[in-house]
Amino acid sequence: MAEFKKQPRFRTRIAPDLIETVRQLVLTSKDIVITCHVSPDGDALGSSCALWFVLKALGKTVNIVTADCAPRTLQFLPGVRDIVAATRQGDRAHELLSKADLIFCMDFNDPERVDRLTDALTNSKARKVVIDHHLDPRIEADVIISHPEVSSTSALLYIFFWQAGWTRYLNRSSAACIYTGMMTDTGNFSYNSNDPDLYLIIYDLMRKGIDKDNLYKLVMNTSSESRVRIMGYGQYRMQILPDHRAAIIMLNSAELREFDYNKGDTEGLVNIPLSIPDVTYSVFLREDDKNCVKVSMRSKGEFSVSRICEENFGGGGHTNAAGGEFHGPLEQALDKLLEIIPNYDKYLQ
Ligand code: 5GP
Ligand code: MN
Repeated sequence: MAEFKKQPRFRTRIAPDLIETVRQLVLTSKDIVITCHVSPDGDALGSSCALWFVLKALGKTVNIVTADCAPRTLQFLPGVRDIVAATRQGDRAHELLSKADLIFCMDFNDPERVDRLTDALTNSKARKVVIDHHLDPRIEADVIISHPEVSSTSALLYIFFWQAGWTRYLNRSSAACIYTGMMTDTGNFSYNSNDPDLYLIIYDLMRKGIDKDNLYKLVMNTSSESRVRIMGYGQYRMQILPDHRAAIIMLNSAELREFDYNKGDTEGLVNIPLSIPDVTYSVFLREDDKNCVKVSMRSKGEFSVSRICEENFGGGGHTNAAGGEFHGPLEQALDKLLEIIPNYDKYLQ
């Protein structure tokens, strides 16, 4: 009889020696910290909180330390309320990072992405493990699990749990965290979502009892009044540059004040112009204060917005979703953008 050869369950396979090293690091650590990027999104928070639950189930002392707080829309996520955010508890955040013996860096590839905690993270003597899906990890770490082909760190973390034999420690709450990260980094499975692994993971998470429809409602379809108004206004004011296949949306600090802007209110606004067939990429400039404009970009197909953000706005990200910052007022950010946009015409198909 032909020998039955068992296929691996997931197409993505993390190198087994990395899994074993992380298992050993966890088992021998006493004080673990999990951190993720500043202005944490669903994937950063989902992967951090899911890992927090699993490490606690393994009997570990573990804290999540972030540069700033979760947006209002993600406050419902199990575990988020226990996060130590440096904007609120600066001393405690620094103390936890310095006394940790193991730090997990979730969903970022560069130490600068933890903002005001960069020095504390870099100087900490703790062993470090990176689990991430951004290109070119630049964090000095003992283990780097980097899979840019996976659409979210949360999905990658699930595959890590599977290979480590730790999915049994997931419960309904931690499963909901993983699902949230997978959902937010794929626009509810509408882009970067053709990987069949995702649907095997969702099957498992549903078996853990998640209410997928309710998570969609909470994360993607619940808005404050200020958000509904600001999203409409931003779209109304959108500019299109037909020669460059670009769309620009800008909000200055006075407009943000007028609309009673809260963190997270403009999440997803930059994606909307991409629904216009003639728009290849979309830029959103938000004047957080007179000296700092947050830059967000999205694109379709091969056109890389991470290249534009890296080369001009001190940032980066992925081919189709990237961001950065401009230090100066909004008008100057726009001038710079209009100046550099023609340089990228050659990449338009
Ligand atoms: P968003 O536009 O939602 O803020 O970010 C989209 C993507 O770009 C995310 O994957 C995020 O990691 C990346 N990104 C956003 N802002 C920055 C930044 O200032 N620096 C870098 N390196 N990446 C960023
Ligand atoms: Mn992510």
